[in-house]
Amino acid sequence: MGLFSRDKPKIKIQTTKKDGFSGWLKCTHCSELIHVNELQQNSNCCPKCDYHYRLSVDERLKSLTDENSFQELFGDLESVDTLRFTDTETYTKRLANAKEKSGHNEAVIVGTCQLNTFPVALGVLDFNFMGGSMGSVVGERLTRLIEHATTQRLPLIIVSTSGGARMQESILSLMQMAKTSAALAKLSEADIPYISVLTNPTTGGVTASFASLGDIIIAEPNALICFAGPRVIEQTIGQTLPPGAQESEFLLKHGMVDCIVNRRDLKDKLAELLAFLIPATKANASGSRETVTAQAKEK
Ligand SMILES: [Zn+2]
Repeated sequence: MGLFSRDKPKIKIQTTKKDGFSGWLKCTHCSELIHVNELQQNSNCCPKCDYHYRLSVDERLKSLTDENSFQELFGDLESVDTLRFTDTETYTKRLANAKEKSGHNEAVIVGTCQLNTFPVALGVLDFNFMGGSMGSVVGERLTRLIEHATTQRLPLIIVSTSGGARMQESILSLMQMAKTSAALAKLSEADIPYISVLTNPTTGGVTASFASLGDIIIAEPNALICFAGPRVIEQTIGQTLPPGAQESEFLLKHGMVDCIVNRRDLKDKLAELLAFLIPATKANASGSRETVTAQAKEK
C-alpha cells in the first residue's frame, strides 16, 4: 500500500528489498519514478509519459493473440555457424548465450493464431535474441510463414524489432532481404493482405526489406525506425540529422508509415484493418470469420 502512496518521500520507497531492487525504476524518457508492476500492467508503457518500452516476444504474442490460439510453426529450424565466424567470441557461443538470455531458439517466432477471432499468420521478432538480427533462420522462418500464409490464404502480420542483418552470417544474412521480399511479392500477387508493425527499434536490413513492404505499415509511438542509425549517418555524411528524424512521428509526417498506434489499441486496430482488408468477412453474415479463401476462389 505504502509503495504507491505519493506523499511518502521517494528515497524511502527505493530501499526495500534485500537484493537491492525495490521494484522502482526511473523512466528514461520522463525521469519520473515508476513501479515495475505498474509498468507491466500498462503493457510496458510508462504510466506517466506513455513512453513505449520494449516487449518480449512472449508478451507481444500474448497481447495480440486470442487466448491459447497461437500455434508455433517452423520452430525446429535453428541457426548453425556455417562460416565459423569469430569476433570477440564465436558465433556458436553467441547463439548459446542468446538462447539462454531470451528463452527462445531464434530471433523470430512465427505461427498462426486468431486475432479477435480473425485467423492470421503472425511473425514476431525478438530483440532479446541477438538484437532481433536477421540471420538465415530468421529469414527462412519468415519466408516459410509468408508461403504458409500464401497457400493457406491467411492475412499476414509481422511485428518487427531488429538491429538489422546478423553480421556473423555475412552475405547469408543479407540474402534474407531478397528472399523475404520475393515471398512477399507472391503473397501480394495472391491478393493476401500483409500488415507490418514497426516497434522500437526497427533498423538495417529488416527496415530495408519485409518491414517496409506492408500493404499497411503501422508504427508504435516514438519508435526508432531507420536503415542506418543516427551515429553512422553522422559519421558518413558529416551532418547532424534534424531531431526525431528517425522516429515514428517524423516518418508518419513524411509518408513512410501509415499510422501510429498506441500499444494498448494495437490488437483492436489490427482487427479493424483486417475487417476492412478481407471482403469475405463482410460478405459472410453467419458470424464466423473466414480467411480470404472464399472470396479469392470466387474470382
Ligand atoms: Zn515516462
